[in-house]
Amino acid sequence: MSLTDFCQQQLNDLENQNLYRSMKTVDGSQGVYVDVDGKRYLNFCSNDYLGLASDERLIAAAKKGLDQYGFGSGASRLVCGNMTAHQMLEQKIAGLKKAEDCVVFSSGYMANVGLISALIDRNDLVFSDRLNHASIVDGITMSRAKSFRYKHNDMEALCCLLKKSSSTQKKWIITDSVFSMDGDVADLKRIAELAKEHEAHIIVDEAHGFGVLGQNGGGLVEELGLQNEIDLQMGTLSKAAGCFGAYVCGSKSVMDYLRNKARSLIYTTGLPPSVMSAAIEAINIISRSNDRRQKVLKLADDLRQKIKTLGFDTLQSTTPIIPVVVGNEDDALNLSQYLWENNIWVSAIRPPTVPKGSARLRLTVTANHDKEHVDSLINVLKNFKCCHPEQSEGSLFI
Ligand SMILES: *Cc1c(COP(=O)(O)O)cnc(C)c1O
Repeated sequence: MSLTDFCQQQLNDLENQNLYRSMKTVDGSQGVYVDVDGKRYLNFCSNDYLGLASDERLIAAAKKGLDQYGFGSGASRLVCGNMTAHQMLEQKIAGLKKAEDCVVFSSGYMANVGLISALIDRNDLVFSDRLNHASIVDGITMSRAKSFRYKHNDMEALCCLLKKSSSTQKKWIITDSVFSMDGDVADLKRIAELAKEHEAHIIVDEAHGFGVLGQNGGGLVEELGLQNEIDLQMGTLSKAAGCFGAYVCGSKSVMDYLRNKARSLIYTTGLPPSVMSAAIEAINIISRSNDRRQKVLKLADDLRQKIKTLGFDTLQSTTPIIPVVVGNEDDALNLSQYLWENNIWVSAIRPPTVPKGSARLRLTVTANHDKEHVDSLINVLKNFKCCHPEQSEGSLFI
């Protein structure tokens, strides 16, 4: 069979299972409204939680960075691609996080894969929440450590696994702080206690906590005051910070070890310095954006309440990420398509991104949304039953 035929057959299979994925193309910039194929859509699926992706201040900072540093960084950071902008950004993030040191990676995916495979080896034991992000799962696979995926947020299960584990092996607990598809938060206090008891190291992924939680936007770790209990905090600059790239924070020695050992840092070109300039501006804004954080969290509470009233299951969400679980793939696709026809954009999230049987819409709100946007979404969602009467019963409404 030719490669083309093979791939086409696989794609057909995906299509038949309602698991085929394709991209839509946004014309113009990101925001509460986005244009696709000449039509305007109300956007409820971006991770731009603070509404910074198209912020004038970030654009100005990037332009200034372009003038100052040019465009490309020319080489990996260990060769000659480490520029003033990279250095300044790392100091800025370490300051915000109250960490000794920080390393910026090219993306959150690369940070997780790089830090996990550099620090953890085949003799170690890893305890990982079942709903951790794919980049964590891939990093663990690359580390070749023995790994245990505990039931989501189940501290009893984690405790049992730790108790049963050998005392001589190095142990690691890895968790998202805010879970990307459920919008709930990890029990970091309990995780810190368990880690202490069992001499485990902790890695926390703040991809969705950074900028959104904590007095200075440092994330859930900051909100809970656990900076000294967590060995490594990673996060991305591509979500609330509205930029691109990612960071890892920890002690000086651990960060220096990553500079020497993390392959996804060493064997890749440094990010364009103008991206770093924009990120520096984003960190400045984040640290004094408590009003934006309050606004987005309050708006999310409001939306979540209204969605629950319509009879949907939003799981344990407490953040700007609100799952609307419908169960099977075609129900999720139908609901997403129905919203799309009403000029509202919320992507359907299906396996393998979420467990089978928990296909959903993943709604997100940003600080640039207002009550009127939430109300238009609710008004459209409310009419879903009457427009698709065959789906008013069954798995959609719980
Ligand atoms: C988005 C995400 C990442 C990856 O970050 P990118 O910068 O987009 O590569 C890592 N972890 C979690 C939990 C995420 O949601």
